[in-house]
Amino acid sequence: MPSSRSVGDEAVAALARALAVAPTTARRLLRLGIARPADLVLHFPLRYEDRTRVARVADLEHGRPAQVDVDVLERIVKSHPRRQLQIRAADQSGELWLRFFHVYPGLAERLAPGSRHRVYGEPRFGVLGAEMVHPRLSAADRAGPLPTALTPVYPSVAGLSQTLLRRLVTRALGTRHAPFADTRGETMLADTLPAALRAQFALPDFAEAVRCLHTPPAGPAIEAIGNGGADMTIPTTPPTPTPHTAAAWRRIKFDELLAQQLSLAEAHALRARRRAPVLAPDGALAGRLVRALPFSLTAAQMHAWREIARDLVRAQPMQRLLQGDVGCGKTLVAVLAALAAVEGGHQAAVMAPTELLAEQHARKFREWLEPLGVRIELLTAAQPRRKRQAVCADIAAGRVAIAIGTHALLEAAVDFERLGLAVIDEQHRFGVRQRLALSGKRQGANESRGLQPHLLMLSATPIPRTLAMSYFADLDITTIDALPPERKPVTTRLFSERRRAAVIDSIRRLCGSGEQVYWVCPLIEDSEHLQLEAALGTFERLRVELPGLRIGLVHGRLKNSERTLTMHAFAQGEIDVLVATTVIEVGVDVANATLMVIEHAERFGLAQLHQLRGRVGRGSTGATCVLLYGQALSATARARLKIVFECSDGFEIARRDLLLRGPGEFLGARQSGEPLLRFAHLEDDADLLELARAATPRLRAEHPDAVAAHLARWLPARAEWLRA
Ligand code: ADP
Ligand code: MG
Repeated sequence: MPSSRSVGDEAVAALARALAVAPTTARRLLRLGIARPADLVLHFPLRYEDRTRVARVADLEHGRPAQVDVDVLERIVKSHPRRQLQIRAADQSGELWLRFFHVYPGLAERLAPGSRHRVYGEPRFGVLGAEMVHPRLSAADRAGPLPTALTPVYPSVAGLSQTLLRRLVTRALGTRHAPFADTRGETMLADTLPAALRAQFALPDFAEAVRCLHTPPAGPAIEAIGNGGADMTIPTTPPTPTPHTAAAWRRIKFDELLAQQLSLAEAHALRARRRAPVLAPDGALAGRLVRALPFSLTAAQMHAWREIARDLVRAQPMQRLLQGDVGCGKTLVAVLAALAAVEGGHQAAVMAPTELLAEQHARKFREWLEPLGVRIELLTAAQPRRKRQAVCADIAAGRVAIAIGTHALLEAAVDFERLGLAVIDEQHRFGVRQRLALSGKRQGANESRGLQPHLLMLSATPIPRTLAMSYFADLDITTIDALPPERKPVTTRLFSERRRAAVIDSIRRLCGSGEQVYWVCPLIEDSEHLQLEAALGTFERLRVELPGLRIGLVHGRLKNSERTLTMHAFAQGEIDVLVATTVIEVGVDVANATLMVIEHAERFGLAQLHQLRGRVGRGSTGATCVLLYGQALSATARARLKIVFECSDGFEIARRDLLLRGPGEFLGARQSGEPLLRFAHLEDDADLLELARAATPRLRAEHPDAVAAHLARWLPARAEWLRA
């Protein structure tokens, strides 16, 4: 079996061969995402330099990049205070200093007095007069012809020069040098869209668009071209683009969005061919459950349940996302679905992102379903091994009807006898790969008949429309759009840290009248250790500030049993104030808790704050969420907190969060590393997304070759999640 290292080496060797470059260069290109010659075509510049003109030194303007032809008059090599090279140079109109701090071998020799150079850089007016720090020395000497197009500056990595990248791209475009050995220039630039479609959507030719973006003609509006890319690491915000390049970017973004739509449509078609067990319960158990509940289902829950039930009686696997704001009662709908699987003679698996939540689900499911004779087992990594093995054996033998757990459910040892339904709670907390792993779980008897379980995902982080149309286009979506009655909206208050004493006072008052409080500790990204320290600090401080109150602490490092004990005590009202890290972020449900304090709220994501806020207000008394912020709050941080303060609609918050932070949060991309859009921006280019969606069915029906060519260009290594 090849190791990943040798697979990487193969890719390096293949690329080195195709481009006729050294393996080290190929490796660097791979780091840029360039794996084949055709990828160079889509490696667009970050910005451009106008080297089509030569300016006079006397005409240089501060901060405005320009190119000049100069003669070296004097060369000064300094080694104190730091090593640098100072060159006094001039043209007929005036003098210019060139300063270099990285003095690579040969540079000083190249800049000998008397030599003449064409340099490009950003002039500054300092103590020495006009100067350029690290200007680029032109490869062409000053007698050479000037380029007629703008010079592209490409995203690069250390050790990969712009000159090399330009040469490779130029060759890929097939304009000057011979195209690469294994591909003909025409195929790399061939248009994958039928002419009629291009005409209908007023899109330029692919080759024309690509050439325009790599080497746009010089003109007055140079800075107008910019990269319209969505990549956050590219700090370019183009001002009003010229019609010329705007059309080119439109074409590229359209193509990218179209590739995404096409591959999702393909995944959808594949799924329609897959088979799932038909779960046709008689509904007797569900009826008993509903009658035993102390409340009745909301209309929104009924509607959601009916949609799901319709899917479960089909022989195609359901792939449905149930979304709804925190506290709207998604769990109950999932319970009904699991019950349908059980009544239909199958097993169900319920996966939650944290142990706390898995335990809570197990408790809820047992409370509701054990009276009906349904056996439920919990499976988490924290359980003793013997216990886990016993549970696994019971799952495999079909003695467990519903298995509830964390990602421990994904382990190879967990082997279901007849898995009919997989439920994933808080789906956005899982990577795509984990979601797939659960639905691809071995099915025992089902598998031998080629069956796949139905998949139900729950999310309180509503997916904005544009995302639903793009990354999640393969999912059917059900929305619960109303909270159970008698829920009072949570009042949100913004407090500076300085007013902490007032917050402490209200805690004292609330707890005095028997209510309970959550206190969420500051989030410290990437350091579980510091996070823990902060939580312990807060815990100690609150114990001093609130003598006589019972204060509990939960955090991620706590032993499982201790955490459960504390949570249980809180749920039973034996703890007044629960200090917690973000482990309580998702799903935890204690109706008597009426105040949520979030310390250093400015460090949290908007959707995360909304989720935390949703932990209170579950009972019928009004609840409050206090966002405590640090004293030095930046204007943007203030603006973000204001959104949560003003807005109680999870959809709107999610939409604004998407604008602020990009789609990664919704996709769980951090865990899974799946490709995101490089050029198109979901919100800004929503019109193109609509066009791409409209074109997809037609292309698939009438131009299968074009579809194949288009996918080969844009998604050569289509990730497995698109195919599953
Ligand atoms: P979420 O959708 O955020 O997962 P939960 O499923 O945890 O919300 O439900 C929140 C609370 O509301 C739970 O205590 C649940 O028992 C309760 N609940 C669910 N449905 C109803 C209803 N129709 N009427 C009243 N309370 C309900
Ligand atoms: Mg929930």
